[in-house]
Amino acid sequence: MNSLQNQVAVVTGAGRGIGRAIALKLAEAGADIVCISRTAENAAAVAAEVSALGRRSWSYALDVAQSEAVTATAAAILEATGQVHILVNNAGITRDGLLMRMSDADWDAVIDTNLKGAFLMTKAFTRTFLKQRAGRIIHVSSVIGVMGNAGQSNYSASKAGLIGFTKSVARELGSRGITCNAIAPGFIETDMTAAMDAKSRETLLGQIPLAALGQANDIAEAALYLAGPSGRYVTGIVLTVDGGLSM
Ligand code: NAP
Repeated sequence: MNSLQNQVAVVTGAGRGIGRAIALKLAEAGADIVCISRTAENAAAVAAEVSALGRRSWSYALDVAQSEAVTATAAAILEATGQVHILVNNAGITRDGLLMRMSDADWDAVIDTNLKGAFLMTKAFTRTFLKQRAGRIIHVSSVIGVMGNAGQSNYSASKAGLIGFTKSVARELGSRGITCNAIAPGFIETDMTAAMDAKSRETLLGQIPLAALGQANDIAEAALYLAGPSGRYVTGIVLTVDGGLSM
């Protein structure tokens, strides 16, 4: 049984979907939670759910791709919480399109949120982790970063980039008691996958050995493992949670 009593976790993209599930799972395990989302109401609503579980919670509206805003928010978080032990870089977007038609704006938006956002957030809390000689960094990548996908070259590049970033950070900070890992979800039932048409969904299900889409809670369980005592000796891995899709 994992216990995160007296730990503070920062979760980006906590306002919906996988991030919300991770925030609530870590709170159930005893952690106090900082909920970050683009939309203030979404972050605040999940923070209220965390408080209802009896944990401390804070919420911040932040675009993780904005360097100055990340620096300022990280300082505000540290002032409010005193300490941060766990950072989950989950915020992510898609702007799908075939390569030939992909605009620079769609490429940049996805790389900036999914990859640069994780860099900025990790950098902002690294000094804290180094001082504590402890920290758990978890990146929510994707199987698309491993397998690739037609129509998602920007998303795939951002998620593959996160895997390289994860391994470098794991090597750079490991000797100071800090772990850094990635989770690679397959297709999970959230707003991000809700737009899929029935035919694509059926084709996809035929490719998944477990013959079902995953739930946000499946990813939250993986995050709990990496954040808690059970993940103490685990760093630099890509934990695939995809019903067998990518094997
Ligand atoms: P979602 O339902 O679309 O939620 C995305 C969350 O990220 C929202 O809370 C959103 O904030 C936040 N966000 C987006 N851009 C942001 C930014 N620039 N700054 C701060 N927050 C931002 O997505 P999801 O399905 O839960 O996905 C979560 C993560 O898992 C993403 O990184 C995604 O790529 C990854 N993933 C998802 C799947 C899947 O099948 N769903 C599969 C593999 C990987 P607002 O609510 O305020 O807009």
